[in-house]
Amino acid sequence: MTRRLRVAVVGYGSGGQATALALARDGHEVEIFERVPQPGPVGAGFLLQPTGLQALWRLGLLGDVCALGAPVSRLYGETPQGRAVMDMRYAALDTRLCGIGMQRGALFALLHAAIARETGIQLHAGCAIVESDCDGGRLRDDQGGWHGPFDVVAVADGSASTLRGAITEMRIDKPYPWGALWCLLPEGEWPWRDELRQRYLRARQMAGVLPVGRMPGAPSRKLSFFWSLPAADFEAWRNAGREAWLKTLEGLWPQAREHLGEAFDVGVLARAAYRDAIPRRWWRGRAVLVGDAAHAMSPQLGQGVNMALVDALALATRLREASSIAGAFDAYQNERSAHLAAYHRYSRWLTPLFQSNRDNLAALRDLAFLPAGRLPLARGHMLRVLAGIQHGWWGRFPLDAAFVDALAEQALDAAAPVAHM
Ligand SMILES: Cc1cc2nc3c(=O)[nH]c(=O)nc-3n(C[C@H](O)[C@H](O)[C@H](O)COP(=O)(O)OP(=O)(O)OC[C@H]3O[C@@H](n4cnc5c(N)ncnc54)[C@H](O)[C@@H]3O)c2cc1C
Repeated sequence: MTRRLRVAVVGYGSGGQATALALARDGHEVEIFERVPQPGPVGAGFLLQPTGLQALWRLGLLGDVCALGAPVSRLYGETPQGRAVMDMRYAALDTRLCGIGMQRGALFALLHAAIARETGIQLHAGCAIVESDCDGGRLRDDQGGWHGPFDVVAVADGSASTLRGAITEMRIDKPYPWGALWCLLPEGEWPWRDELRQRYLRARQMAGVLPVGRMPGAPSRKLSFFWSLPAADFEAWRNAGREAWLKTLEGLWPQAREHLGEAFDVGVLARAAYRDAIPRRWWRGRAVLVGDAAHAMSPQLGQGVNMALVDALALATRLREASSIAGAFDAYQNERSAHLAAYHRYSRWLTPLFQSNRDNLAALRDLAFLPAGRLPLARGHMLRVLAGIQHGWWGRFPLDAAFVDALAEQALDAAAPVAHM
């Protein structure tokens, strides 16, 4: 479509930010509605996969992302006895690929700055949308005011979306029984600078660290630390107190305990909950789902933000190419749900292997996960799932050769000072 569209984006998370930016760059007039009065990132850090990085490359942000983030070459998990359970390297897929660990605040700031530079985007912060008239393209806020009509309403209000009910019935929409505690730590003397590192005691205990680089303007690099916990046990964990938890961590992973130091304040650990959500359809009338609102899943596979970024670029491309909005939405839904098909299932199958009280499953994982990942066909499949480029069950998500070269070059530059320290 070549005409200038009037677009509303609900939600200013990574999905909403990227959608607003991509559509404004295509010349559309964009208004963003975010319920938080002073929007900012919530949470510690995430691992950007080649899929999400390609979307950021298309938005012209790959250089900044690589300069701030931390290149991650390997995902490694082991038992308390030091026996490897998972050991995957991007290089086994393609020596030019890697992930980038990034602070949520850093990605938020980069997208926010790019949006501020763009003309044609208006941000309504502190404006919660409570009703969406999908056919009329209008939105009602919590003060009773109506906005619109818009040609396109991109609903990017997150995993617990309250607006998607007006678009679709849900196949699945439920919280996971397990969640996590998260915080950022100074990189300090932590020995693994380019790995996601995890420790597991069966599936009952899991801790991990991910290098996530630095914030714009900040000199020091950080790690994101997480501790897995059943959602219902949070109060019991808090009541048991600091020493009890540090002792448990010491038993699981003495090195991580030592790294936290004597002065560690458990009050900095923030609580995160996950949700599983699969809609029957992604659009109705003028409203279309983007990001977690369309496909929330446990972060076990670390794909959520990447999929949200890919959604944003896919929606912009389809609107550019189709002759009608309905045609664009249909093509977008087909494209994105084909990419996501295997991820929903894997995330539901894998999560109990890492977060549950099912000791038999965990024992099987400890025995079989690593050897399975070395079988010729399974190895490639598991690596593609990790990198976000498994498309459906058999296909491969396309990565542009120019992007892969740019990633190799820029991530290598970013890694250089660390390697020489
Ligand atoms: C603990 C944890 C770890 C994770 N780790 C990773 C990882 O390593 N890699 C990865 O790819 N993903 C990871 N994820 C998933 C990732 O964080 C999400 O998939 C991603 O943030 C989704 O972005 P989004 O923009 O769709 O939604 P969100 O980031 O949730 O943004 C939604 C926005 O909408 C706003 N909003 C909600 N309702 C309304 C309303 N009614 N009106 C106006 N505004 C509204 C909210 O305030 C919010 O700003 C993790 C998630 C968790 C919880």
